[in-house]
Amino acid sequence: MTPHELNVDLHCHSTVSDGVLPPAEVVRRAHARGVQILALTDHDATGGLAAAAAEARSLGLAFVPGVEISVTWAGQTVHMLGLGIDPGSRVLAAGLQGVREGRIERARQMARDLERVGVQGAWEGALAHAADAALVSRTHFARHLVDRGHCRDLGEVFRRYLVQGKPGFVPHQWARLTEAMDWIQAAGGEAVLAHPGRYELDRLALAELLRAFRDGGGVGVEVVCGSHAPHDASRFATLAREQGLRASRGSDFHAPGEGRFDLGEMPALSRDLSPVWADWQPARRLLEQAA
Ligand code: AMP
Ligand code: MN
Ligand code: MN
Ligand code: MN
Repeated sequence: MTPHELNVDLHCHSTVSDGVLPPAEVVRRAHARGVQILALTDHDATGGLAAAAAEARSLGLAFVPGVEISVTWAGQTVHMLGLGIDPGSRVLAAGLQGVREGRIERARQMARDLERVGVQGAWEGALAHAADAALVSRTHFARHLVDRGHCRDLGEVFRRYLVQGKPGFVPHQWARLTEAMDWIQAAGGEAVLAHPGRYELDRLALAELLRAFRDGGGVGVEVVCGSHAPHDASRFATLAREQGLRASRGSDFHAPGEGRFDLGEMPALSRDLSPVWADWQPARRLLEQAA
C-alpha cells in the first residue's frame, strides 16, 4: 500500500466558518465515510479544532489541525491552507484575529450593497447563518439569498451576486502572502495553496504565484479538490511536478449535498505525485498497520 491509497481529506469547513455542521459532526461524518486522516480547515479561524480533535480521538480517527487563510496576492484573493498547525500559537492567533476583524466592515458594506438591489434583511439574514459577525462570509449571504428565493442555489448566487462586477461584491484587502506563510510557520504548520484552479490568473501569473509561494516556504498545492473543475486535477498535477511541490487532496466540504464532493469522496492523487501527507506520522502508522 502507498500513501496515495489512504483516504485523506485535508480541506473542510464547520459552523465555525461557513460550513453547516458543528466541528464534531464534521469529524463523525468523515469517519463514517471512511476518511482515515482528516484536517478541519475553517476560514481564518481555529475555534473548532479542539472539539474536532476530541471527537477524532474518541473515534480513533487521525486528525490534523488546520486553517484556511484568506490572502491578497497581486490584487487577487487566494486561499492558503495551514496544515498541522499548533492552534495555541500566539503569532497565528493574532494574525487570524486581524483577518477576522476585517470581515466585519466588509460584511456591513456587502449588506448595504445587497439592500440597494432589493435584498431585504441582508445583514440579519447573513448573521443568522453565521456563528459570529467576525466570521460572516459570502457563503452566509449566499444562503440568505437562497432562503429568500432570490436564487435557486449557491452556484446561481455566485454568478449573479457577490463576485466582481455584481451586487454585493466588496473589494477587500486580506492578509499578505508572506504574512500568512509566516503565521503558518510560526505555528509549526505546512502551507498548501488551496484550489489554484479557482483563481483568475493567466499562466504567467499563476507560475509567479507558485514561485512566490514556494520561495516563502510553501510545500504543496491542492491538486484534487472539491472546488476544482474535473480537468483542473491533471493541470495542477503537471504544475506541481514542474514546480517541485507536493500535492494535496481535499473535499472543501461545507454542507451535505452542496459542492462537488462529500467528505473523502474525491478521486485519489495520481501515483506520480508526492502527497503532502506521505511522511506524516499518522500516514506512516496507517501504512504500517496495513502492511
Ligand atoms: P469569503 O471568504 O467571504 O470571500 O467567502 C468565500 C467562500 O464563498 C468560499 O470559501 C466558498 O465557500 C464560497 N464560494 C465562493 N465561490 C463559490 C461558488 N462559485 N459556489 C459556491 N460557493 C462559493
Ligand atoms: Mn468557504
Ligand atoms: Mn477556499
Ligand atoms: Mn475551503
